[in-house]
Amino acid sequence: MLEHMVSAWRARHAGRVASWRAAGREYVGRFAPSPTGPLHAGSLAAALASWLDARAHGGRWLLRIEDVDAPRSVTGADQMIRAQLSACGLTWDGEVMVQSTRDAAYAAAFAVLQAAGQVYPCACTRREIADSVANVREHAFGRELVYPGTCRAGLAPGRTPRAWRVRVPAGEIGFDDVLAGWRSQDLAREVGDFVLRRADSLWAYQLAVVVDDLAQGVTHVVRGADLIDSTARQLHLIRLLGGTPPEYLHVPVVVSADGEKLSKQTGAAAIDPAGAAAALAAAWSHLGRC
Ligand code: GLU
Repeated sequence: MLEHMVSAWRARHAGRVASWRAAGREYVGRFAPSPTGPLHAGSLAAALASWLDARAHGGRWLLRIEDVDAPRSVTGADQMIRAQLSACGLTWDGEVMVQSTRDAAYAAAFAVLQAAGQVYPCACTRREIADSVANVREHAFGRELVYPGTCRAGLAPGRTPRAWRVRVPAGEIGFDDVLAGWRSQDLAREVGDFVLRRADSLWAYQLAVVVDDLAQGVTHVVRGADLIDSTARQLHLIRLLGGTPPEYLHVPVVVSADGEKLSKQTGAAAIDPAGAAAALAAAWSHLGRC
C-alpha cells in the first residue's frame, strides 16, 4: 500500500522531484511530533505526507521528538508514537533526535542572537500584554496577542526580567508554500517581538525547531497547516542564524465532524497499531488533493 502511495505522490509532485534531482542536493525531511499524547488521525496524516515526500524524492526522513515543552509532555507518548509509526511502516532514518537533550545547542544559538543584539529581556505578564492598547482590538477579533514592544528599549526601573524576546523587523516575510502558494506575514504588525526563552526558563518551540532543523540539515518541512503561521517567525530566526531556509509544504488539518481541528486536547482517538492499515488508508484519502 505504501509503495503505491509513494508512486502516486511522486507523480503528483513530478515537477518538484525533477527539479530537486537536477539541483543534486540531498533531501532531508523530518517528522517532529510533540509527545503530548499518541498520534491521532491528524498527526498521522502529517507524518504520512512528510514520509511520502521524502521517499518520493529518494531522501532521508528523520524523526525528532519535540519534548522541549516538558510540562506538556506525557510519559510514554514518545514510545507510543514510535510504535504507531512503525506499525504503519513509516520508518525513519538514523537516530531519533530528542529535544530534551539539546539544551546546549539552544543555549549556543541564543548566545549568537544575544551577541548580535537581537534578543532582550521582557518583564511583561500575559495580562499586561493583553491589556495593552495595541491588543484591545486584536482581542475583540479573537486574534493572537501582539507584543507591543514595551521592554524593547530596556526594562522599566524596578521590573524583573521574565522571558527573552527576539526583535522582529518591519515589513513582510514571505515564502512560497508548495500547496498554499505565496504566503507572507508582517511580524512587527501581526506578532511583535516573540519569546525565545520563556518565563519558566524553557526554550520556546520557535527557537528549538529552527535550531534542530538547521542542525539536521533539513531541506523540506512538511507538516500540518496549523503551523503555517509559525513559518515567518521561523524564517526570521533562520535568517538571523545564517541558515538556509527549507522548502515548506503545509497539508490541510484533519477536522472532526463538527469542524474542529483534531487534537490531543480535544480528545482525538489514538491510532491503534493493530488497525494501522485502515488508519493509513484514511490518512491517504485525507491527502487526496495534496
Ligand atoms: N512539534 C510540533 C507539533 O507537534 C511540530 C513542529 C513542526 O513540525 O515544525 O505540533
